[in-house]
Amino acid sequence: MSNTPDNAIPASPVIPVQLALDDKFQFRCHKGIACFNKCCENIDILLTPYDILRLKNRFGMSAREFIDQYTVDFEMDGHDMPGLKLRTKEDSAVCINLMPEGCGVYSDRPAACRYYALGLVSMRKKDSPAEEDGYFVVREAHCLGHAEPVVQTVGEYRRDQGVDEYDEINREWRQVILKKRSAGPTIGKPSQRSLELFFLASYDIDGFREFVASPGFDEVFELDTRFKQELVQDDVKLLKFGFRLLKQILFGEHTIALKADAAQKRVERYKQRKLLSPSDKAEELADAQDKLYESLGD
Ligand code: SF4
Ligand code: SF4
Repeated sequence: MSNTPDNAIPASPVIPVQLALDDKFQFRCHKGIACFNKCCENIDILLTPYDILRLKNRFGMSAREFIDQYTVDFEMDGHDMPGLKLRTKEDSAVCINLMPEGCGVYSDRPAACRYYALGLVSMRKKDSPAEEDGYFVVREAHCLGHAEPVVQTVGEYRRDQGVDEYDEINREWRQVILKKRSAGPTIGKPSQRSLELFFLASYDIDGFREFVASPGFDEVFELDTRFKQELVQDDVKLLKFGFRLLKQILFGEHTIALKADAAQKRVERYKQRKLLSPSDKAEELADAQDKLYESLGD
């Protein structure tokens, strides 16, 4: 079982026919089928932020502990964008969560497991502000579910599998990935600090919560006190806020108010370290605006 990243060029075993929510396809997976769990023995599963939240809560772990024990790193593009894949059992491609009786995390299984044997592709048409989702069938030789006499729409299958909730929560994160990929080098290589913030907001929800609660964050962002309290108490709200922050940091899409004097304060900090001339000050102020996000958490 593998999940094809957004915008990947479909290759065999993908059936190259794009389906919409109302389109029907034939498929059924159930415990009694001869191939039961075959799809979990050869996995390549990219984890989304909500996958990690659900799984780390299931195991009663911190996000960091889950990441260390259950994931492997990979680079999502040519610019060091960090991605995480679900770990496999040693020296094999068998999912680490596969037990003799089946999936050991079934009610919290990742979105890719829920989608299979469907794949998702998100695309933005030229000059269109919003991306559109399309679906395709993945037909692998070992999977006998395609021969089962059950026909359903894509929408019905998504609802049965509980995918809607995952996609709704991850939506803005997928937009970030899609935009970063389609922009390519035009938005430049993100700074090391931006990449660290991407990792924190995407995968390490506990570290991100601490970051949002920190004085350094308050120094830069103007957040309503009640909203901030809600964020630190509600992981899903915090995840979604993190995706907005990433859009602001990576693409300049401003939805989170900045403190008016945030950049000036950075200059003052700078001035304490070295004496600046007036022309230096103007230059440093401009530079401080640019580097404000990079300084977060310093
Ligand atoms: S029918 Fe396909 S998805 Fe279901 S257990 Fe078999 S291989 Fe996996
Ligand atoms: S998480 Fe569960 S459903 Fe997904 S690949 Fe692993 S064992 Fe299979």
